[in-house]
Amino acid sequence: MSDQVQRFHFSDSPVRGELVQLGGSVEEVLERHDYPERVAALLAEAMAASVLLTSTLKFAGSLILQARGNGPLETLMVECNHRRELRAIAGLGEDWSPASDAMTLAQLFGSEGQLVITIDPEDGQRYQGIVPLDGDTLAECLEHYFAQSEQLPTRLWLAAGDECAAGLLLQVLPGHDRPEDADIWPRLCLLTDTVSAPELLALPATELLFRLYHEETVVLHESTGVTFNCSCSRERTELVLLSLGEAELRGIIAEQGAIEVSCQFCNQEYRFDPVDVEQLLRGGGAGTERLH
Ligand SMILES: [Zn+2]
Repeated sequence: MSDQVQRFHFSDSPVRGELVQLGGSVEEVLERHDYPERVAALLAEAMAASVLLTSTLKFAGSLILQARGNGPLETLMVECNHRRELRAIAGLGEDWSPASDAMTLAQLFGSEGQLVITIDPEDGQRYQGIVPLDGDTLAECLEHYFAQSEQLPTRLWLAAGDECAAGLLLQVLPGHDRPEDADIWPRLCLLTDTVSAPELLALPATELLFRLYHEETVVLHESTGVTFNCSCSRERTELVLLSLGEAELRGIIAEQGAIEVSCQFCNQEYRFDPVDVEQLLRGGGAGTERLH
């Protein structure tokens, strides 16, 4: 099964859904790092969640989902854009130990645990929403975020398996948050609560939706592919280097002979020898023609 997200709606109910199933993109992230099992599973769930969240946006741009705190797991970060390109990373704290694997979400991120959702449109204002990481699951924390930031009732179900992840989102359509619709929403949520992790991870969309909602009329939209793709580049790395200042760059060259930067997300190495650094400082970076 290829990585994809698929929208659906109920023809008789003002509710829409999104189903995401990821395999290859999760593998691409996990094979680059040696994360403990619990961290790998949480990161995979966060990847599925970020695709679902991105699907609720109506503009071009990116969404960054970040959990951070002062516990054994310091950070978990996923970036997804409107082309459904994903990258993700986790950062363990110094006090991570094998026993941390058994901790609850709140314990993992400690007393200062927060979930930060940053929406960065290509045109327009950046928006950031923050909620405490006080739910038992990532899905529950994200539901708190929706309750706080949007008026549309929203529920999420997430699952992670061996180098794969999946998720389902239900959301009431705008303008239908009225008491007369009240029975539809809890009924669809109850039906979805019966989904098991193996079903969510492995059943094809049509089978899964029939299994959950066979008494409803579900309209399945076309699926969209999801891929791992890091947005790092030599040009972006140059901008970071330039921000360090000329003295700092010359200092590193004098000390180490070259500057080597590796992307934390994808492990791509960017190497700048003395000639590259000289060109960079004279305004001739990767954007201009290189002589070698
Ligand atoms: Zn990268």
